Amino acid sequence: MLTVEEALARVLARVPATATERVPLSAAYGRVLAERLVAGVDLPPWAGSAMDGFAVRSADVPGDLDVNETVAAGKVPTRAVVPGTASRIMTGAPVPDGADAVVMVEDTEMVGDRVRVRVGATSGMHIRPVGSEIAAGTPLLDVGAVLGFGAVGVLAALGRPSVLVRVRPRIGLLSTGDEVVEPGFPLGPGQIWSSNLHALAGLVHDAGAEPVYLGNVADDPVATAAAFRAALQSDLVVSTGGVSVGDFDHVKAVMDDLGGGEGAGVEFWRVAMKPGKPLAYGFIAGRPVFGLPGNPVSCMVNFLQFVRPVIRTMLGDPRPFLPVISATLDRPWSRRPGRAELVRVRLTAGADGGVPTATVVGVQGSAHLAAMAEAHGLLLVGAETTTVSGDVHVQVYDPRWGASSVAGYRWG
Ligand code: AMP
Ligand code: MG
Repeated sequence: MLTVEEALARVLARVPATATERVPLSAAYGRVLAERLVAGVDLPPWAGSAMDGFAVRSADVPGDLDVNETVAAGKVPTRAVVPGTASRIMTGAPVPDGADAVVMVEDTEMVGDRVRVRVGATSGMHIRPVGSEIAAGTPLLDVGAVLGFGAVGVLAALGRPSVLVRVRPRIGLLSTGDEVVEPGFPLGPGQIWSSNLHALAGLVHDAGAEPVYLGNVADDPVATAAAFRAALQSDLVVSTGGVSVGDFDHVKAVMDDLGGGEGAGVEFWRVAMKPGKPLAYGFIAGRPVFGLPGNPVSCMVNFLQFVRPVIRTMLGDPRPFLPVISATLDRPWSRRPGRAELVRVRLTAGADGGVPTATVVGVQGSAHLAAMAEAHGLLLVGAETTTVSGDVHVQVYDPRWGASSVAGYRWG
């Protein structure tokens, strides 16, 4: 059986890259950049005032000065500041020729129609010089950068209307099982509502891809084959259930058939991890295909370990993995050794910004869906470990774990 690392290396060895597309800046947030960006212009593009006040010659102040005109933001000065004069100026307005400083309005008073500047000024005071923030030619972002709101703001400030990004891959989501019914339909005897497709759609969104709901297919080999064939329209296929050794588990056989025969589709189907041992992986018709287990927790944990990094790599993200943080386990946790384990834990922020505390949540069974919603991350337990305590590592899947209900400012 493969270890988690071996399985991950196998799936990441063959990842098709998605195409690129140009999107308007308004749609660029969160996307993965597919071009290297260099500042095309200076920011700011002209010298502007950083204050409401008066543009002056620093050599003239303090002193009383004639007022030339008022320069508002969006207007162009019509007169130069010559000795003995000043121009009233607003924040964000271009500094007139001749002026080398701006004094704040608070440091002035009007005496008749002249301005009395009460303070001295150094050359350049309260002026934003051309290119002082970003000079033309400065490298901004590399291919693979994930565009946050700061980066989008910078691109807009530099006048860029659009960017080249990776197309979001379409992820076909298919569930299997005679017992599985979509929420909204009544349950017959022995039936359950499908949770997997909905949880997976959230995981796909979170990974930066587009979910394609393909619904549920009965535990029938012909129907399963037809559903998989249709699913191969997507860039990557994820199915749930039917991948174990039960009498009605057809996914592996179907993957082999689609791959061209016995053993041709499924590259591996078991990983030494808990939860979620049965995971069928294959590369069929140029697409990664994952047969995830039906148990809801196994399904989600497997997605996070294998499918998410593949999607991020398809997108060209050079950092495709979830963050792993150090934490302190609040009380020792014991188990049977044998397989690496990913244990659902809640995180609590450490006092005074110290190491966070991890608490194992409720029931840990692979069918126990609620634990996944309650937890923020997965405690990483090595195959041979019997008791985990003290300093531990947690793979964080809920970035809101440290969010607070109180403002809690701690100024440094
Ligand atoms: P399987 O992997 O098909 O053997 O299913 C394992 C367990 O997961 C069974 O208890 C199934 O009823 C359950 N299961 C399978 N598919 C789903 C689904 N889409 N939503 C929730 N539970 C499921
Ligand atoms: Mg099943």
